[in-house]
This record gives sequence, structure tokens and C-alpha cells, in this order.
Amino acid sequence: MRVSPAGPRVLLRRLREIMAEPINAQDRLDKIVAQIAGNMVAEVCSAYVLRSDGVLELYATQGLKREAVHLASLRIGEGLVGTIAEEARTLNLPDAQSHPAFQYLPETGEEIYNSFLGVPILRAGRTLGVLVVQNRAHRVYVDEEVEALQTTAMVLAEMIAVGELEGLARPGTSLDLKRPISIAGIGLGEGVGLGHVVLHEPRVVVTALIGEDAGHESERLEEAIASLRLFVDDMLQRDDIGDQGEHRDILEAYRMFAHDRGWVRRMHEAIRNGLSAEAAVEKVQSDTRARVQRQVDPFLRERLHDFDDLANRLLRVLMNKPQGPGRSDLPRDAIIVARTMGAAELLDYQRENVRGLVLEEGGPTSHVTIVARALGIATAGRAANVASLVENGDAIVVDGGTGEVHLRPTPDIEATYAEKVRFRAKRQEQYRLLRDIPAETRDGHRIKLMMNAGLLVDLPHLAESGAEGIGLFRTELQFMISSKMPKLGEQTALYGDVIKAANGKPVTFRTLDVGGDKVLPYLRTAQEENPAMGWRAIRLGLDRPALLRRQLRALMQASAGRDLRIMLPMVTEVEEVRRTRALIEREIAHLTRHGHTVPSAVRVGAMVEVPALLWQLDGLFKVADFVSVGSNDLLQFMTASDRGNMMVASRFDPLSRHFLRALRAIVKGAGAAGVPVTLCGEMAGNPLAAMTLIGLGYRSLSMSAAAIGPVKAMTLALDAGKLGAALDSYLDAEDGSDGLRDKLTAFADSEGVPY
Ligand code: PEP
Ligand code: MG
Repeated sequence: MRVSPAGPRVLLRRLREIMAEPINAQDRLDKIVAQIAGNMVAEVCSAYVLRSDGVLELYATQGLKREAVHLASLRIGEGLVGTIAEEARTLNLPDAQSHPAFQYLPETGEEIYNSFLGVPILRAGRTLGVLVVQNRAHRVYVDEEVEALQTTAMVLAEMIAVGELEGLARPGTSLDLKRPISIAGIGLGEGVGLGHVVLHEPRVVVTALIGEDAGHESERLEEAIASLRLFVDDMLQRDDIGDQGEHRDILEAYRMFAHDRGWVRRMHEAIRNGLSAEAAVEKVQSDTRARVQRQVDPFLRERLHDFDDLANRLLRVLMNKPQGPGRSDLPRDAIIVARTMGAAELLDYQRENVRGLVLEEGGPTSHVTIVARALGIATAGRAANVASLVENGDAIVVDGGTGEVHLRPTPDIEATYAEKVRFRAKRQEQYRLLRDIPAETRDGHRIKLMMNAGLLVDLPHLAESGAEGIGLFRTELQFMISSKMPKLGEQTALYGDVIKAANGKPVTFRTLDVGGDKVLPYLRTAQEENPAMGWRAIRLGLDRPALLRRQLRALMQASAGRDLRIMLPMVTEVEEVRRTRALIEREIAHLTRHGHTVPSAVRVGAMVEVPALLWQLDGLFKVADFVSVGSNDLLQFMTASDRGNMMVASRFDPLSRHFLRALRAIVKGAGAAGVPVTLCGEMAGNPLAAMTLIGLGYRSLSMSAAAIGPVKAMTLALDAGKLGAALDSYLDAEDGSDGLRDKLTAFADSEGVPY
């Protein structure tokens, strides 16, 4: 059997006619396999569809025994058909029965057929079934025949994906496309979200599969590729991209793919076989996905993302769809699913409709995570392959605490999580009742509970949480979510909005803490071996005074006539505070000279987060108006363990003797010097750790808004004096073990302190 170049096109045209006929799904499927067999001069053509229980069921056949339809089945990995499904690859065998995986299904009567060609039915790289042709004669099917069968498999993929075959499923079974799947990701943001999938980069659905005129389709493809290449080149030439960094690497990879000859050739080939230009893009992309997903090399798999993006862009060009995801008709219970996403893109969505976020990538310190947490969105990261496993509109549950993601959950899973949501809401309600009650311990110590912020979206939480002010405003977030350096006016506007929203409550603005893991794509910096200990924060500010002075000016203009609190990150030597103060003085003089109103007072504080500062506390307290302990960095540097590295990040407990001793030295020293001290690292928001801090003598804590309720509930139940005495004895003992968590937990339990 040889198919002429027109063969597949004729076949596709016939299939399109069959698709349009007003007949039921089984009849349509029967006609399709008969048509394929006829066109390919094969004695057998059979379609197997993958069920949710991992079984491939014979759905239609021409040539095998009719009675076997919906009875004959193979498990995934079983026999030739199961092997094709498992490995998502084509098998082309002149003597099928000698293949080690061959398994004879007596009910089908297939023993008389020798040659065998089977292809996976793929959609977005996922296997939905298998399409097979067989002949009696021993023969190898030629490349055009393989290509033709793969192309027709797309028609079946479409039928399965739109749900047309659902009604044919044997009672009690369902198709794999609707199978519930659970993925173990990592929890990135508290809370549980139940809702429906909104793909951040929705797959473009190709409906016109068949191309009438191959020449015309090839031209359309060429034009679209040319416009795609222009787009990528344009992006690379934009000056805000910089010479290096992640952005540029990704775009370079795009350019490489856009010029990949193999890719373009395969698409033209698919067009010659009768597909429309867009169906050709989709087919080649699906094949590539299936192939690369079998690779273990993480680099290759990573590149697949870039390739997917590019194919999606190409489809949009071909189908005249706007680039970028549509945000208009967001369901009220949207769970956004993305491979990866920039922080600004998340902010484009209508906040009130977003119940959750699921990312294939994304770690606890990635920008989008920081924003999602600020928005209170239940978020899970590292959810392997999730974007290819769902369709828009699928039901989904995401647990931001544990990182579990359930696709198309069964009713009992849904019920369990709905209960969890109700429980959480009840607890939140209890915290809300505490909002206007002052945080005071049982023995009368007043504790100031403040919140951390960094974006406009944080500001409504100030009133909702009952925070007494903003203890840490991370100014770098505005810089991180922006694609270019924020101008003086933009900075002033943000700070002005923050001050207005604070409504008289104190706000502590921290100057730019960039460098390390907080990268600005538009700021050129050299590659560093150890960026966390590199040219960052106040070091960068003092070396590049223009950047720092612009920010100081914005802060002063926004606080004209009011008190301004400025805090410096990563201070290592007291001298750095002095030098920054000098810059501040110059800025005040400059503004006064030009007739501006300056702040009524400027207080300058320092973050205590570099261990070297612990031996300069006396000097520090002389020059700083206040200090705030950055326990995240302090622990990272004291224990020499990278806070962003999952292998070591949680290796050392902040509730251990050495670390608490350091924290005690700071609070005692500040108390003796009469300098106000706050702690604003993540531990302040954990009730057990916050309890410990109060026991050590801290009276001011700054945390995420969501933590204020639980920490206040803990505070109200605590006898700080009693804990202080116990802590002193724990800290001064030398009993070998360093961890104090158990002792502190036991204390909280015995005192009835909720944590
Ligand atoms: C810290 O280091 O504890 C801190 C509060 O600052 P950041 O997390 O922004 O480094
Ligand atoms: Mg820090």
C-alpha cells in the first residue's frame, strides 16, 4: 500500500464530511475507521480510547470482530496498543507478533494480521487513545503513511476532547480526560481554594483542522512565522531587557526556536498532508510535547516551556487572536493555572474572582508568590505538569498550606475541602472579633502588632486586620513588579498612597533592598557567585547614590509636613548608617533650598540582619533612632544556610538556643539604650515563635496581615512574665540539645496558649 501525496488530504476531506453528518457518535466513529482503512488500503483500522481506570477500550473497528467493540481492552503498558499509549510514540512493525510486547486478544481475531502501525491520539502532549491499522502482508509502512495516520488521529483527539465519546463509555467507566488527578506541589500561600480552572495561557482551540489548499496554507504559515520572528527580534532589541539575565536567556531561546528549520519543516509536511496551517502547528507541538515529556533531562523539559509559548504565539497570529490571555470573562471562582507567571500579570486579574493560583514553577520567594500572599490567594507551586493536565473550566481544588492540588476532584475530596474552607472562615470570624481589642498579655504587657506590606493591594488589610501600623514596607516590590525603573513621580505617588491609607498610623519605609534573590531585570549588575552576600541593599545604595537619593527624595516629598520613618536594609557597619544619614541631610537641604516642604521629622532606623552588627550594638544604638530585626536574613547568615534553598532553608530552627540568645541580646541592648526595637521577619507571624519573642522582651512585632489575628489570640492568653523566667532558664542552661521548640510547645500547652 502506498498513499499518494493527495491521499491524506482526500482522507481528511472525507473525515470532515463525516464529522458534519447528523449521526450518533458510535456511527460516526465506525464510519471514520472504515474510511481510514479504505483510504490507507488497510485490512484493519481500530480506535482505542483511554479510560480513567488506565484501560484502553476498543471503541470502533473495521476488520476486527465487531462483537469485540467495547469489550476488548488492554491496560496501559500492556500489549502493543498499551505500549504506544504509555510511551506516547508510534510503533511501525512488519511482524507484530514477534514483538516482545505483542499480546493476542482472542475476541478480536487479529491473529491473521502481521504488519501493524499504531499511533497515539494526542492532545497537548497527553495521550487520549491509540489508532491502529493492520495488514496481513509483512510490510513496513512508509513515512507518509505514518504521517497520514498521525494526522487523522488529531480528528479523533478533537472528538474525545469535546466530549462526544462520553456517552459511549461502558456504564461505570469514564474517559481518561476526565480522570481525577492529585498533584503534590508545595504550599506557597495559606488557604484553600475551590473553583474552576482558568488557564493563564489558554490553549488556542483549533477548529478548522483541514486545509483545502496546501499552497495557501503554507504561505499563511510562512507569513505567521515571519511575523513571529520579527516580534522576538523586537523584544530582544528593547533597551529595558538588559544584556543578561533570565529575560534575555528566555528570549534568546525563543529566537533559536523561531529559526529552527526542523520545526518549520515538520509543520510544512503536516500541511502537505492536508492540515490547515494552525492544525499543523498544533500537531507538531503535540508530538514535540509527547517526545520531550519522556526525557529526564530537566534542561530539555525546561526548554519545552519556551517552545510551547512560541507555538501558542504562532497560533494566535494565525487565528488573529490578541496576544496575551483574556481576562474579561473570569468565572467567580477562578483558579488560575500557569506554568509560570510574572507578579504583574497576576495583578491584571480581577482580584475578587480569583480563588487560587497553581504554578508549575514558583518557589516561596518568587515575586508572584509574594504578591499572591499579599492578595491572600491560596497558592501552590511546583505542581508538575499541571497546565497540560487540565482544560479550561475543569473543577479544581488547591490547598495553599500543604501544596496539594486536586484536578477534577471526586465528591468526597470536594466535600473534605469545603469543610476545611468553612472551618477556616469560622476561625477568621473569631479573629475578626478580636480586631479592635488591644493586644495585651494576661499580665498587662501591651504588644504592638504591625503588618508588613509592599504593594498597594496590601493596604486594605491595614484596617481589616487591626494592625497598628506598617512595621516594614518593602519598597523593592514596586521595583520588582515593574518592567522598568519606577520614576520619581511613580515612587512618590505610591508612598503618598501608602501614607494616606495608613490614616495617621506609623509606616516604616525600608529603602530599596535589591540584589541577592531580589533581581531587577532592568538593572545591570555583574554575575555574582554569592548574590545573597553580594552587592545588595544599602551597599548598592551607597555605591549608587543617585538611585538611593531619588528614592529618599520621593519619600520626603510624599511625607511633606509629616513624620517620616526610613529603615536601612543589610547594615553591616555603623558607618553605613552615618553615611546614609549624611545623604538624607543633603536631600533635606536640597528640597528646602528649592522651596519644598520637608517632613516634620525624619527618623532613621537600621535592620539588624547581618551578624556582624551584633558586636556593634552599642555604636548602632547611638546612631539609629530605631532598629528592626530581620530574622529571615539573620538566621540565614548565622547558620550559613540559604533561605531560598529548599535543601537547607528549614534545616535550622529559629527556636534554638543560639539564635534566641542573639535575639535576646538585641532586645536587652535596645532596652538599655532606650532605642525602640521591632522584629519583622517571618517568625513574628508564627504564634509559637511570636510567643517566644514576647517572652524574650519584644513588645513590637511586624508580620503579614493574615497573621495578626492568630498572634493576637496567642498574646491575649499569655503570661509574658512567666514565660520570660522560663526562657531565661532554658537559654542559660547548657544541656547539650540546642532546640527549644519542644519546651516552648509544652509551655504553651500547659498554659492554654493557642499557637
Ligand atoms: C528579614 O530578612 O527578616 C526581612 C524582614 O527582610 P526580607 O525578608 O525582605 O529580606
Ligand atoms: Mg532581610
